[in-house]
Amino acid sequence: MQINATLINLYHVCHRELWLHANGVRMEHTSEVVAEGKLIGETTYTDRSQKFTEVEIDGVKIDFYDAKNKVVHEVKKSASVEKAHIAQVQYYLYKLKQKGVDGVTGIIEYPKLKQREVVNALTPHDVEAVVRWEQAIEAIITSSICPNVIRAKICKPCSYYDFCYSTEI
Ligand code: SF4
Repeated sequence: MQINATLINLYHVCHRELWLHANGVRMEHTSEVVAEGKLIGETTYTDRSQKFTEVEIDGVKIDFYDAKNKVVHEVKKSASVEKAHIAQVQYYLYKLKQKGVDGVTGIIEYPKLKQREVVNALTPHDVEAVVRWEQAIEAIITSSICPNVIRAKICKPCSYYDFCYSTEI
């Protein structure tokens, strides 16, 4: 399976969720959190599709790229898993860099919180980290063993909650 931004995000949230998603066990359609996030993404800043470009690199889709100012824009429902959001945007910057587009920054907008998070242009250290994420993801998703339930606060709103806590595979 090709690494994409969703897998990068899930790697930073829960390795079990990453494995389940990558191995075709999908529960997102049952999640109100996912639905709400999608709605926010679709209804916030509706004029941005006219201002920004949609870019696809090796199957990785960047919805809103401001080519003039070299900024990737991303909208998120909340800041609760901010590290994963930053990693996702860093992955977009990495894919752009691979295509020779350097010095791109990111802005993650949280309409509900009325906040924005700036993602700096990648340093060589950041690039090394992204490469390590890709290798780790590959190892996790190709394993025949599903990682254990993490028993964390983030489990409750997770779309796999019922699945994880009624049966462990
Ligand atoms: S319920 Fe918890 S352990 Fe299960 S996939 Fe979601 S975050 Fe991971």
